[in-house]
Amino acid sequence: MRPEILFPLFKSIDTLKGIGPRLAALMAKLAGENVIDVLYHLPTGLVERKNITELDEIYLTQQVIVPVTVLKHYPSQSRRVPYRITCEVGDSALTLTFFNGREDFLKRQLPEGQIRILAGKLEQYSGEFQMTHPDHILKEGDDTDISMFEAIYPLSAGVTNKTMSKAVTQAFLALPILPEWLDDALIKREKWDHWNGCMQSAHRVESNADLEPMSPFRQRLAYDELLSNQLALELVRQSMRRKKGRSFIGGEAVQDAIEGALPYKLTNAQNSALAEVFADMQSSNRMLRLIQGDVGSGKTAVALMALAKCVGSGAQGAFLAPTEILARQHMQSIKPFTDAAGLKIALLTGRLKGKKRAALLEELLAGNIDILLGTHALFQDDVAYHDLGLAIIDEQHRFGVHQRLSLSAKGRADKGGVDVLVMTATPIPRTLALTAYGDMDVSIIAEKPPGRQPIETRAIEIERLDQLAASLERKLAANERIYWVCPLVEESEVSDLAAATDRHTYLNALYPGKVGLVHGKMKSEEKDSAMEAFKSGETQILVATTVIEVGVDVPEATVMIIEHAERFGLAQLHQLRGRVGRGSLAGACLLMYAGPLGETPKSRLNIMRETEDGFRIAEEDLRLRGAGELLGTRQSGLPEFKVADLQVHGRLLQIARDDARHFLEIDPSLASERGKAIRTLLYLFERDSAIKYLQSG
Ligand code: ADP
Ligand code: MG
Repeated sequence: MRPEILFPLFKSIDTLKGIGPRLAALMAKLAGENVIDVLYHLPTGLVERKNITELDEIYLTQQVIVPVTVLKHYPSQSRRVPYRITCEVGDSALTLTFFNGREDFLKRQLPEGQIRILAGKLEQYSGEFQMTHPDHILKEGDDTDISMFEAIYPLSAGVTNKTMSKAVTQAFLALPILPEWLDDALIKREKWDHWNGCMQSAHRVESNADLEPMSPFRQRLAYDELLSNQLALELVRQSMRRKKGRSFIGGEAVQDAIEGALPYKLTNAQNSALAEVFADMQSSNRMLRLIQGDVGSGKTAVALMALAKCVGSGAQGAFLAPTEILARQHMQSIKPFTDAAGLKIALLTGRLKGKKRAALLEELLAGNIDILLGTHALFQDDVAYHDLGLAIIDEQHRFGVHQRLSLSAKGRADKGGVDVLVMTATPIPRTLALTAYGDMDVSIIAEKPPGRQPIETRAIEIERLDQLAASLERKLAANERIYWVCPLVEESEVSDLAAATDRHTYLNALYPGKVGLVHGKMKSEEKDSAMEAFKSGETQILVATTVIEVGVDVPEATVMIIEHAERFGLAQLHQLRGRVGRGSLAGACLLMYAGPLGETPKSRLNIMRETEDGFRIAEEDLRLRGAGELLGTRQSGLPEFKVADLQVHGRLLQIARDDARHFLEIDPSLASERGKAIRTLLYLFERDSAIKYLQSG
């Protein structure tokens, strides 16, 4: 239950004075639906006003507060002409203009012959002083309401800055004094104010420095957020630790059979990741481990060995892939080895229906299937295992925490539940790993299998497309495969993105029958057969949208051509490039761009040319793009922060993590004074679902 002290903050914004339902709906879209969201909708700009009593050109384009005598109204006669009101300031004339001004309203606000205090921007129009839509119009004596500084908020149609400021002012009136959840020593060291004080300061900005993420009060607000994130993850992690897991004993015979069937020796990097996995599996704790390995580092083999251990010691394994194509590909690449070891493996995707599906589920429940491989279909409610012991989740960034948990819930409690192994090819900068995956242990496959040749990466102007297309002849003659990636499926009216279908037609004219096409709008059967044809060499050029991005493995593929590479993010480019040079042949990656390039796209292409190191690329990507975009916030389970910015608040994240770990060690049930305050913090950021992981509850 949410602590009572937070109730005023979680009231809907239409409870604020002056905010009706219509406005509330608009503001909800912009900021969020509750009072708390208004508070966390922080200003991004600042207006500084000057008090003046006479008009002078030196004040032009500045924000001023000025007393005026209203002379005469000139209501507009047509829509295109503004409503004008002449005024006097000392000896000077000032004209106020209003577009779509309403006469009755303006006459009430600015009665002829009276004095009013105006705040707004002083401008000049054909030699005369003018003010368009003053921000404030007040009677004499009421002008103390106009602040010399005004915070400027991010706005949207229908929500003016005035509305935002009013809402914020109202929100402050309702603000409870929250208990202090931070450690005294930290507050002293960082010279931070209390939450309430910081929130006030964040809105009452008086200089541009006050808007900076490094201002002390924004740092504190960011720290609160990071701390709540780390506490939530740590609570989950500790509760996982406490759960008795299953101890996988034995299984060596199956492991040996599979390892013996592999056409290569596992690399040291694969072996050391595996050693960590096996140690987790053998221990009686629940495994929740992330394997990070760059594209092509050989994660599948590690997964396969873990499955071997699981099945060898008598349990079933599940292997979850993000797409149908990848599930099928894993099936193809794994089955020869599981067959060699005498294991029964089956595929379950959304496509399997009716009797066949029912039969498979029956076999699964009876324990006649050792390994079930598939897509999200593995989560469905009616999918019941005989004894699920290990779940492997490939390409984690497509799955959220919830899916992770729902799969692990499919195990048998009496046997110790399900160990979970998550694999990702997206190297994640440390700061991100802490916030997104802080609840997991991490193994890294740092080295790729031997014999890989570096991929030659070049940037080419799009004007040379014809020349490039013609030069592919040589590659085709050598039976190599070429990916040709286009950003969009169909030519759209508003964009000049090269369409995959057009490119397919063009290339197919050059190399008849040799060119395939795969894009996101195709049915999955069609996608599969296009991939299949490419793998088998029936087609040698595959024109694709980014559906090939994740995990697809075609060893003969040597050339990756990316059209409009300047429109892709770094992580995406890196993933795409990882599709080639997977066999022993040298690979090339050609980044076709349309100039002139902006700064960011230029640095992206340069980084791609400089390095193949996924971790370095990830760090650069974070620098260029920011955290939210990096993994695709929604899909990744990466929290969206309101104030915290991982690029600038990385130092605070480290502190928050240590703080969370340390505090939960000494007060695991949040019973102390600070512990109770920390509960409030968790509720404040709606991380309350973590509270159910508390030791006592
Ligand atoms: P990813 O980590 O991107 O999922 P894969 O598991 O698909 O990589 O492996 C990439 C390629 O490397 C595959 O063709 C696989 O057969 C091969 N491979 C994996 N491990 C080794 C190894 N130890 N030695 C040689 N080739 C390997
Ligand atoms: Mg893979």
